Amino acid sequence: MHIETLAVHAGRHPDAATGAVEPPLHLSTTFERAADGSFPGGHVYSRSSNPTRKALEDCLATLEGGAAAAAFASGSAAVAAIVQSLEAGAHVVATTGYWGTGKLFSDVFARWGLASTFVDTSDVDAMRAAVRPNTRLLWIETPSNPLLAVTDIAAAAEVARAAGARLAVDNTVGTPLLQRPLELGADLVMHSTTKYLGGHSDVTGGAVVTRAPDELWERLKALQSLAGAVPSPFDCWLVMRGIKSFPARVRLQSAAAQRVAEFLAQHRAVSATHYPGLPSHPGHAVARRQMRGGFGGLLAVQVRGGEARAMEVAARVRLFTRATSLGGAESLVEHRASVEAPGTPTPRDLLRISIGLEHVDDLIADLAQALG
Ligand SMILES: *Cc1c(COP(=O)(O)O)cnc(C)c1O
Repeated sequence: MHIETLAVHAGRHPDAATGAVEPPLHLSTTFERAADGSFPGGHVYSRSSNPTRKALEDCLATLEGGAAAAAFASGSAAVAAIVQSLEAGAHVVATTGYWGTGKLFSDVFARWGLASTFVDTSDVDAMRAAVRPNTRLLWIETPSNPLLAVTDIAAAAEVARAAGARLAVDNTVGTPLLQRPLELGADLVMHSTTKYLGGHSDVTGGAVVTRAPDELWERLKALQSLAGAVPSPFDCWLVMRGIKSFPARVRLQSAAAQRVAEFLAQHRAVSATHYPGLPSHPGHAVARRQMRGGFGGLLAVQVRGGEARAMEVAARVRLFTRATSLGGAESLVEHRASVEAPGTPTPRDLLRISIGLEHVDDLIADLAQALG
């Protein structure tokens, strides 16, 4: 079945007890045992499993074509669970992408013996050259946040296989509508469901989907329960609600982002436009091969005149909201470098733009007046 159909139906069925069409919100933390000591509903305690969370996890596994999914309280908690499922002393080769993921690898988990090498993974040779004997994980993000760099997922999967490592793909920006990493050879897919899957800027969440229920997956599931960074039932319910419309939203957002990128690319106040849908983007050919139906709703521009000019443009927008995050209904603009930290590789003159669901002509008019 097509993803639009799965988004509406996967993990859902009318409630057997009441006939309710929408999945019930199960707030209960604990579940009754039968007289013989068994748990007839399959749930014991909500940190370990909960019916509302189970519905979301079944839905996410289906959307990505995986064997199973684990939902977390945030995308960052999902990243942490993947890393904590590796053995001590493991080495990771990772995309320089989402700032928080990099900080987790290089600051937090380095203290626990994790070694990581950050490379431009759009360069397959650089990725291969960074592999060490103890490399256990290739971590890629494509398109990456905030620079929209594209990594060849199938090529990365080959590098991982040759190294005896696993390939994990942060598919937050791509979404399972546009890109399905497990079909291209990835072992794990990670999401910040805070973004396109939730889609309404009103719930924080994350998830990991696995291709196979192997040993690493068993460790990750144990961690989900033992460390307990789990989403609340209501958070799961909100993400489920968002998922129903995500293919329709992401299609609109991708089409609008393409037009906005084309407008910005020819504007004289802009020195560079980063969007994989532009033929001039260095990753365009790879993106065309591994994405379908569009290139996503996220883009970035570098403003001629440097940081001060970029800040000025951000100050002048009226329709776009100056805020971090992406994937919601409202379009956002963000001076990314100042949200990250000193030492970030993000250019100082860069504005990251998340396209929402407003009419694209209104968005372009707003950017036109802000760029002056
Ligand atoms: C937002 C984001 C994350 C982190 O997810 P949270 O839900 O904010 O913890 C990770 N990767 C990407 C690409 C993101 O955009």
